[in-house]
Amino acid sequence: CGIVGAVSTRNIVPILVQGLQRLEYRGYDSCGVAVHAAGTDAAHPGGLQRARSTARVAELMAQVQADRLEGATGIAHTRWATHGAPAVHNAHPHFSHGTGAEAASRAGRIALVHNGIIENHDQLRAALQAKGYVFASQTDTEVIAHLVDSLYDGDLFSAVQAAVAQLHGAYALAVICKDEPHRVVGARAGSPLILGVGQEGGENFLASDAMALAGVTDQIVYLEEGDLVDVQLGRHWVVDASGRPVTRPVKTVLAHS
Ligand code: GLU
Repeated sequence: CGIVGAVSTRNIVPILVQGLQRLEYRGYDSCGVAVHAAGTDAAHPGGLQRARSTARVAELMAQVQADRLEGATGIAHTRWATHGAPAVHNAHPHFSHGTGAEAASRAGRIALVHNGIIENHDQLRAALQAKGYVFASQTDTEVIAHLVDSLYDGDLFSAVQAAVAQLHGAYALAVICKDEPHRVVGARAGSPLILGVGQEGGENFLASDAMALAGVTDQIVYLEEGDLVDVQLGRHWVVDASGRPVTRPVKTVLAHS
C-alpha cells in the first residue's frame, strides 16, 4: 500500500515512520520498518533489524522508540493485504535469511517491501523451496525477498534487476541488503514509486507518493514504468525497462501541509 525508504547519515527511523503516517489516509492493516542497525550492545545488535505491527503507525513509532531501533538506511511499509491474512508475520518488511549456515543464524540478509501483487508467486515459491528457502509468511511478497537473495552475488542492484525479470504482476519495491549498508534499490511496474533527492548530507529517499516526504524534500524524480533505481548517498542512478541508464528530471513539488 505505502512505501518509504532512505539512505542517510543520520538516524532515519523517525522520518521513515512519519512518512508512513502521511500515507495512513490510504488505509492499511499492518505496518513495519527495517533498518541497517549500527549495533550498540548485545540487546541492540547490528545488521538488518525490524519492527512490525498490526496496530496504528503511532504504535509502531512507540515500539521503535522502546526498542531503540535506529539506523541510517532503511525501508518502511503500510500493508493492504492481498495474499496472507493481516498479521504481524505477514507484515512487511520481509526478510530473506538465505539458506544453510546463514539461515540458521536467523540474521536477515535481504529486507524488502512491496506494493502490488505477484501473480506467479506459487511457481517461484516452489522453485525457491526446492533450493532450501524456508518461508515465514503466506504473502506473495516474501517470494521476492528470497528470489533476490538467491540471485545475490555481491551487487544488490544486479540481483533486483535479475529478480524483477522473473516477476509477473504489479509491483513497487524497495530492497536493502545486510552487506551494502548505504544502498536502497527500488523498482516499479504497475505501482507508483518516486525518488526524493535529499537536502542535506547526501541523503536520498524512495516513496510510493511524494506526500510521504513532505517537509523532508520537495526535489522529486518521478520514475517511469519498468524503471529500476539505485539509491546511494549523494547519488542515484535510474535504469529503464530495457536496462539502459536514463536521466529522469528532478522536479520541485509544492509543499503539502
Ligand atoms: N501483495 C502484498 C501483500 O499482500 C502487498 C500488498 C500491498 O500492496 O500492501 O502482502
